[in-house]
Amino acid sequence: MIFPSLLRAEVTVSEKLKYYSVYPVSKSGLLDELRNKSPITEDGDVFFGYTYSSINWRFKWKYNSSECWLTSVETSLESTYTMPKLETDYFWVKGVWDKWYPNLMKHEKRHHLIALEIAELIQEGISNLSPQSSCSKLENRANQIGFDYMEQLDVLNENYDLETNHGETEGASLFSYL
Ligand SMILES: [Zn+2]
Repeated sequence: MIFPSLLRAEVTVSEKLKYYSVYPVSKSGLLDELRNKSPITEDGDVFFGYTYSSINWRFKWKYNSSECWLTSVETSLESTYTMPKLETDYFWVKGVWDKWYPNLMKHEKRHHLIALEIAELIQEGISNLSPQSSCSKLENRANQIGFDYMEQLDVLNENYDLETNHGETEGASLFSYL
């Protein structure tokens, strides 16, 4: 059985922005202020921006005496960015900030786009599942596709950070501007 409508379904995407406030009073104090205020730590390192992507897939099925098949697949992606917010207005600080911050945001958006690619692959992969001899088999197969791609997402994000040194090569490192 073929359900072309399943293939046309799109991933539902939402993006959220969470800020932490920073109050630097000088260019030289900017780094310390970010380090002190950032809630983002990983293995003892402090980062100034972060993207958390949550992907969920849901599906419905029908069955008869011999097989079980999908009738709808819905995949959603929600990315939450954690970013610093500049709460002071000093000329030298702003000068650095305005050069650095857009590149940091761009780097984080790229993480989101990587997650979107994976969400689309999950949507497509589950939608393409052929009917199975039982609904539990169908459910297992569908979830396995999702979990396998989620593992790939971790690897892709790690590789992206390795390749760019967490955005340094894209101008997203504050050190380049101090
Ligand atoms: Zn990154």
